[in-house]
Amino acid sequence: MTRRLGYDGAGILHVVIRHHVPHGTPFDLPRPSPETVKRFPAVCCPECRRDGDLTAAGRWGEPAQLICPCGYSWTPHLPRLTPQALLREVVRQALGAGGLTYREARTDPDAAAATPRQEAVRAPLTTAARALNRGTWVFDGYERAVATDLLTRLRPDGTETEAASSDGRLRTLHRRLDALAEYAAMATGPLGELLEACSTALLPARGLTADDLEPGPDDPPALSDADLALGALATVLRAGSTGEVDY
Ligand SMILES: [Zn+2]
Repeated sequence: MTRRLGYDGAGILHVVIRHHVPHGTPFDLPRPSPETVKRFPAVCCPECRRDGDLTAAGRWGEPAQLICPCGYSWTPHLPRLTPQALLREVVRQALGAGGLTYREARTDPDAAAATPRQEAVRAPLTTAARALNRGTWVFDGYERAVATDLLTRLRPDGTETEAASSDGRLRTLHRRLDALAEYAAMATGPLGELLEACSTALLPARGLTADDLEPGPDDPPALSDADLALGALATVLRAGSTGEVDY
């Protein structure tokens, strides 16, 4: 919930958040200084002019709505801040002000716009898995060595601190995708082609930033999706390198 919302018209949003502790009482963070409040005219309800206790709601990446305690809800059109960016800004401010992590911020739990990376790697992986199952592709020593090395680099094991936050998990994901791109450029033959196809399919995941990670009680969909896609590749690599293709 936003306690008070101000906007300077030049792209800077000022948010005072009322944060709810689970099963606890709400508290405010931070207290705005009088100068800050003066510099940022409040965004207020077009119906009753109220500028406090507004709720910002919406799906991640879509236009946000403000809801006034009077019951009126509207999408504010602010100069140089698109309605799509409003919720992100509010959440960014909340995180910056209170040292919260993305995992603790709560938005619409139904908002789950999964990015279909898993689907994108399905075709090359299915082809590879079929060839391995039929025995038309058997990893040679070179392919086994490359696959084994890459499998260790694809493990999702960041540090404990990294695993605890979405930002940290994003860094781990980028490391794994970098490793995949590196091996795709290096490997030759059918394995090189498979890695190249997967790396290309996962290019959008390499461009993910913290802005793309929808906060909520569950994993951000963009992260889980990339995780699942890399997991599917790892399954095929493991099958090829161990010869246990019956999966
Ligand atoms: Zn109102």
